[in-house]
Amino acid sequence: MLLVHGMRTALFLLVVIQCVAAYRSYKNYKLLRVDVDPVDTLWLEQLAARYHDNVDIWTEPGKVSHHADILVSPRFFNRFVRILDSMAVKHRRVLINDIQKEIDRQMTDDIQFSRRKRSAAVEDDGRQSDLEQFQVDKYHSYGELVDYMYELARKHADIVGIINVTKSFEKRDLLGLKIGKRTPWKPTIFIDAGIHAREWIAPATAIYVAHKLITEYGKNDLITRMVDKFDWFIVPVANPDGYEYSISSDRLWRKTRSKNDTLSKWCVGADANRNWGYRWGEAGANASPCSNIYAGSMPFSEPEVAGIRDFITWQVPDLKLYISLHSYGQIWLAPWGYTNMKPSNHEDQKAAALRALDAITNSSGVHYEYGTIADLMYQASGTSIDYMQDRGVPYIYGVELRPEEDDQIYGFTIPARFIKPTGEEMLASFLALAEYIIEHKKL
Ligand SMILES: [Zn+2]
Repeated sequence: MLLVHGMRTALFLLVVIQCVAAYRSYKNYKLLRVDVDPVDTLWLEQLAARYHDNVDIWTEPGKVSHHADILVSPRFFNRFVRILDSMAVKHRRVLINDIQKEIDRQMTDDIQFSRRKRSAAVEDDGRQSDLEQFQVDKYHSYGELVDYMYELARKHADIVGIINVTKSFEKRDLLGLKIGKRTPWKPTIFIDAGIHAREWIAPATAIYVAHKLITEYGKNDLITRMVDKFDWFIVPVANPDGYEYSISSDRLWRKTRSKNDTLSKWCVGADANRNWGYRWGEAGANASPCSNIYAGSMPFSEPEVAGIRDFITWQVPDLKLYISLHSYGQIWLAPWGYTNMKPSNHEDQKAAALRALDAITNSSGVHYEYGTIADLMYQASGTSIDYMQDRGVPYIYGVELRPEEDDQIYGFTIPARFIKPTGEEMLASFLALAEYIIEHKKL
């Protein structure tokens, strides 16, 4: 018995050690804000691809902001400063001194491991307490979000269904919610989030919006009308492998988790928002598998991206509005990404977007900047936004959620207390867009 107990303890310790060892530490990694010319960022991208373990671009310089947020490892820091000197980059400041402290804070304060709490609740109150136990204003694992989506579908079967989009590279079910009355051929709103793994505020916001649409249906007039009028497809975690990896192993993981042995034995994953098939591999994407903006081995090489394309092609006959949620910067982006040119329906898209921005300001008082991707930020090709524009979807936006650029910078480790206000302002903006679309498309 003692021997068995000893073996168990040893096994437990081994598992613990493996878990700890597997978790990437960002101790003393610094987040720097540097002023960079937005038309000359190639050197920065090449630097980040070459030294991908040491340099990580969090936000690229925009035409409005003119600065980039860059995470730099302690061992590379002095060298990085010398490189900035050689590139005549004068303005830089440290935003966060030790990003690991922020990660630790988020892991202890902001994540709700509801499954553990839930099993205790099941003993006490039975399964019906599951919905109440789930806190929409905390971060959750993918498994917990999936459990919650199934609970919503069970409890609100009249307006909620589960959609099975595809299987991820690691064979997870890529699931989402369909919210709407069961009548065929309704105009559709499709919202995805979390295509970039580390942008945790995006899946949390998508779940928050879904939760409100469902639980306020029949109580709130505007929500009831918009759920009656449209089918709302919400895919809260479009890159579940990456999302889980960002929880279990590397908080700052961005890409998918696909492995391509012929191209790269060491670097895993592709940027799922550079992998779409329109103008794939042009400006603002990288051909190096180690780059954080690696476009993939070919268009739609990532099963998650191909799956969403196929789902929209075969299951969504009348897509009116496509929104992709990202973080961060409080920026409301429209097509195109690959070029500075404007699409022919740019003015209509802009008018709708301005309505959405008004709704955000009315909801929370917060300001989001509006523009095309190429105009406001930088050129980026192979994005879902450009793909949807090419397909002829009339209204398409990518949203970089909170935080805004002010004194208090959280970046990707934004505390969970911001989920509710971010969710509220997004809900308000989506409802305003829905109203605009009803008016302008005469629905
Ligand atoms: Zn993103």
